[in-house]
Amino acid sequence: MTSPSAPPADPTAAIDRALAELREAFLPRFRAATTEQALRDENAKILGKKGELTAILKLLGQAPPAGRKAIGEKVNALKQEVESGFEGCLRDLRGKEREAELSAPPFDLTLPGRVPSGVGHKHPISIVREEVVAVFRQLGFAVHDGPDVEHEANNFTLLGFPPDHPATDMQDSFWTESGHILRTHTSNIQIRAMKGQKPPMAFIAPGTVYRRDDDATHSPMFHQIEAFLVDRRVTLAHLKGVLAEFAERLYGPGTPVRLRPSYFPFVEPGAEVDIGCVFCRQSDGTRAGCNLCKHTGFIEILGCGMIHPVVLENCGIDPEEWSGFALGMGLERIAMLRYGIPNIRLMFDNDPRFLSQF
Ligand SMILES: [Zn+2]
Repeated sequence: MTSPSAPPADPTAAIDRALAELREAFLPRFRAATTEQALRDENAKILGKKGELTAILKLLGQAPPAGRKAIGEKVNALKQEVESGFEGCLRDLRGKEREAELSAPPFDLTLPGRVPSGVGHKHPISIVREEVVAVFRQLGFAVHDGPDVEHEANNFTLLGFPPDHPATDMQDSFWTESGHILRTHTSNIQIRAMKGQKPPMAFIAPGTVYRRDDDATHSPMFHQIEAFLVDRRVTLAHLKGVLAEFAERLYGPGTPVRLRPSYFPFVEPGAEVDIGCVFCRQSDGTRAGCNLCKHTGFIEILGCGMIHPVVLENCGIDPEEWSGFALGMGLERIAMLRYGIPNIRLMFDNDPRFLSQF
């Protein structure tokens, strides 16, 4: 009597078939891979933990025990074939890559390098500071430096500020707990230079200064640059000559300069300096000017004057023998005029979209 059910599939034959199919297929699959990664992926699909050969090996349990050893040997044999096929294809692939490298046009070592895009660059304040320093260096001024944290005397008293001057007020300046001041101007460098060495001298002194101002047009930290010169028989004419030269070199030939009398404690006489408006160039008075120069045709750029005899005396310099001039400017203002920047805040926001324009 025969069993009514279908004869059980022959597991051994099924395994043999699967092994034969894989043997046919693996090499063409390897050869189709064009990159090392693709080849390794293909290899993993066959030999990996969840690979096709591993799946075949799992069928082993269904085969009759007597035949298992023979099947195991067949699987191992195929595994070795696949491994050596993979190695061979890997070698071929690497050889082709090397070949392509060698037969490609030679790399030109003399080509200039590519400049990476998006690198930072100089801030407009730094650019203008370097320009101003360069102008004064060409005129024979040396660069002098001084500390940001200063003795009150070097910042105020020796410069002739009376003790009740509003600038010395606690409300207007930053003081340290030890009673020192964050310098409110770069004029402290003038004092240090004159106390420290004998005239003649000519210095340009850039630096950061600090005041308790923080609104749309002021920042608590800003940049000044100060130039001063002490020699025998220095007059206002020398100062005017330097100013004219400075305006020409920074703002172009023929830039008009005018002085208006003004008061600063450390100079006598003192003046504010205007240049012809760089926006409308209408300083001849025949036309109406623009909003930025308030329709005057002129824009203020700095303060200056002849160094006060008392200041020279305070620093041990005989005002009967020596005289000098000093001038100071805010670099933010110079940069705004140089580049037509309407708002001082843009200088400190450090927005790359703004900074990349210079
Ligand atoms: Zn104007």
